[in-house]
Amino acid sequence: MVETKELMEEAVKFHGHTCPGLALGVLVSKYILEHGHDFSIDEELVAVVENDNCSVDALQALLGTTFGKGNLIYRDYGKNNYTFYNRDKKKAVKISLKGEPYSHEEYTREERLKMLLESDPNEIFNIKEVAFDPPEHAKIHESIICDECGDPTMSTRVREFKGMQICIPCYQKLTKN
Ligand SMILES: [Zn+2]
Ligand SMILES: [Zn+2]
Repeated sequence: MVETKELMEEAVKFHGHTCPGLALGVLVSKYILEHGHDFSIDEELVAVVENDNCSVDALQALLGTTFGKGNLIYRDYGKNNYTFYNRDKKKAVKISLKGEPYSHEEYTREERLKMLLESDPNEIFNIKEVAFDPPEHAKIHESIICDECGDPTMSTRVREFKGMQICIPCYQKLTKN
């Protein structure tokens, strides 16, 4: 058993404050930590998250899935869904919030936080094994110098404009009017 309280303390050190969102991420992480035989915490673990709220910081702090390492993938869907892949064991699990646990109308923030930290992940999440189809490893692309601002820019992000090769922010500026 991994103690939720200790995980929360660890996550707060990274995140900077205590909040219900972080507690959700702690519960997600707790599930993965308790299933270490399927999801060891190393470079082989990949997390795909569908929001960029406080909860994701708990994953970064507790599971080592980070943006910089490339094993934290963000999809902007606005959902509290977390899918984990273990490249080593070819296993995948999807953890999805069932509804809003302990609604804002009924409980204060402090009450919600307390109840969340006392919850079992299975109470508030749907947890199911899913097909193993992890996102591909990020490829390294050559850089092209933006003809407008001079920044070296990954070739796949360069836009053509009036015979120039330009970066996205420059493209947006030049095509605004
Ligand atoms: Zn927060
Ligand atoms: Zn530019």
